[in-house]
Amino acid sequence: MGCTRILSLPIPRKMRATLVGLACLLSLNIVHGSETSRSGAHARSGSNSEQSTGTWPTAGQDWRQRYYSPLKGIHAGNVRQLGFAWAYDIPVSTSLAATPLVVNGAMFTSGNRGSVFALDPRHGTALWVFEPVVNPETQNCCGGVNRGVALWNELVYVAALDGMLYALEASSGRVRWKVDTIIDKERSYSSTGAPYVAGGAVVIGNSGGEYDTRGYITAYNLATGKQLWRFFVVPGDPKRGFEHPEMEFASKSWDPNSRWDLGLGGNAWDGMAYDPALNLLYVGTGNGLPWDRKLRSPAGGDNLFLASILAIDARSGRLVWYYQTTPGDRWDFNAAQKMILADLDIGGAHRKVLMQAPKNGFFYVLDRETGALISADPYVYVNWASGVDRKTGVPVETGKADYTDAPKLVFPSSYGGHNWSPMAFNPDLGLVYVPVLEAGEVFGSVQGPWTYRSRAWNIGVALYPLAAWKERECNDIPDNWPSIEVLRGAEPDPSPRTFLKAWDPVRKKSAWQVETTGPSRSAVAFRRSAGAMTTASGLVFQGDSAGHLRVFDGKNGELLRSVDLGSSVVAAPMTYMVGSDQYVAVMAGVAVQDRAFVDYQQHGQGRVIALKLGGGAVPPLDRAQEPAGNLNRSKPPVPDETSMQKVHAGKALFERFCVACHVSTGRAPDLTRMDAADHEEFHKIVRGGARQSKGMPSFKEVFNDEDATLLHAYIINQAWKKFRCEVKSDE
Ligand code: CA
Repeated sequence: MGCTRILSLPIPRKMRATLVGLACLLSLNIVHGSETSRSGAHARSGSNSEQSTGTWPTAGQDWRQRYYSPLKGIHAGNVRQLGFAWAYDIPVSTSLAATPLVVNGAMFTSGNRGSVFALDPRHGTALWVFEPVVNPETQNCCGGVNRGVALWNELVYVAALDGMLYALEASSGRVRWKVDTIIDKERSYSSTGAPYVAGGAVVIGNSGGEYDTRGYITAYNLATGKQLWRFFVVPGDPKRGFEHPEMEFASKSWDPNSRWDLGLGGNAWDGMAYDPALNLLYVGTGNGLPWDRKLRSPAGGDNLFLASILAIDARSGRLVWYYQTTPGDRWDFNAAQKMILADLDIGGAHRKVLMQAPKNGFFYVLDRETGALISADPYVYVNWASGVDRKTGVPVETGKADYTDAPKLVFPSSYGGHNWSPMAFNPDLGLVYVPVLEAGEVFGSVQGPWTYRSRAWNIGVALYPLAAWKERECNDIPDNWPSIEVLRGAEPDPSPRTFLKAWDPVRKKSAWQVETTGPSRSAVAFRRSAGAMTTASGLVFQGDSAGHLRVFDGKNGELLRSVDLGSSVVAAPMTYMVGSDQYVAVMAGVAVQDRAFVDYQQHGQGRVIALKLGGGAVPPLDRAQEPAGNLNRSKPPVPDETSMQKVHAGKALFERFCVACHVSTGRAPDLTRMDAADHEEFHKIVRGGARQSKGMPSFKEVFNDEDATLLHAYIINQAWKKFRCEVKSDE
């Protein structure tokens, strides 16, 4: 690393001096979450007012969250020359999901569990690395995805997996302040979203809406971390009073006998935006807990403020308006997706709008000053509602997705028509580029009495994706349910497919789409369709599971360039300038046990990759590593379990503590494929933390030796069952 190169970066003198000092003295400064702080920060303009065209100061580039850059240096005429500039290796145990930020000659981004990397944006060398000390008692599920950092003045904000919010000094990574944002450590709260700067506050929500949590967001003073306000998404038990007046209002949309004890969900785990002129903070809220409303709020009701867009006065924390996209949600159709703020000419009027494609399959355009509905139109195939009433803003339900009395094939699936992957808006072309997910899924009521399990996955529905029906008897689909053909009736093919769709929010229809489903059609890949980015030169960038960064013509979807990154991508790319060079950077690395991902053999390694014109091929990662889990189906290397009593007891434990990572999300290995060494070491892995480095935490505090034995019995039983089923289906 050369100090003189650092000196030539276009950064303010004060910051430059610090960076040069660091760059010359330290190749890597790993800062653990210590209490060390440093005073004397010099205030500059906040990142939200940053106007420089070559920077990328917030997740979505500026306050409008458009994932749009005004840069034009890379365009259709030269994009074929786009190639490797630099890469920086990052250890991963689950997907890298953040979009890097670049200001003042430094890049900041986050990795798993809330680690932060400050990099030289021209060479990719580390200025410093921050690794939070995560409270081991956090439900440390799945390695801990993190969706990014926020910047303000000389501070970098990140929320660690355990909900600790950190303000780090941009120059050194030292902790200026930290605050615990979690109010109840007995519940399975975690933090995976990016903090958001709104007015004088940094705001953060939380995750855990499938477990046993009650969603809320909290605003803290940017400079000191002092709490300014807190807004709960759903009410607590009305008998205990209300934290703020909005909760009394919301409680009227719930059965008085709702399961207040469960927390009821609603977690704001991702999308936020802030309009500085209106001083409104927009927050997207999550699904209800449990998903089935008859278990959650037996008498029904809209269940405010689940699956809603909230407009909150950023100074007072009071609600100004709300719009509920899915009243009384029963399908995990949350509205926590990112929102884009834009000015559109609609019907001859200039409208300040907010756009969102929540999971329920309708693309919403709202007046962001009043919350009034301008339009809501299906951007994927939808069968749960025939449309949205323009006057009331309420969806017109068809009944085709009401699974109260019988299972139903529901479109879109519980993963939504669009999930967290950023969509991008190009104001020059008037198109929103949405990574969409077309699929159906069978929902049914749980069979028999439903019991809530503390700190566990508590969705309260019987849920079967299409893949499960192909080996129905192997997947415990209830015998009294009809065949998939009967459930499907006249509905379209429910197989999961992904598309990059260019949506015209004024004409309310798709302008073009390209299919992005990989050749494997893997259900896991389906759930990880990557985020989009667009530029003033009319390009659209999107990564894929096969490890390419693809560049499309924003007007018509023509593929202009595909760069082989060698690592799977789910995050959205970004672009920035240093000197006369325009770079495109993206975080790559998924760490999923599935052959649809090019990096499945690189378990444990991801990268930030930067590209520029004239760069060559991206150098491959070392492929020598073995995947963490066995991907092949072979005869289980242990004898079948004979005690059905043990199997049943183990099943209860598995469904309570293991299913979320090992089955539902596909983030962790399929345990029915364990090899002889895994079986041998089973207790050491589960209780001793022997696979901690691969993202499997120790469950010593959760399982005793006998529990581990029961779990093992269930897994062995399932391994044999799957083996017999697959051998049969091969014949
Ligand atoms: Ca959910």
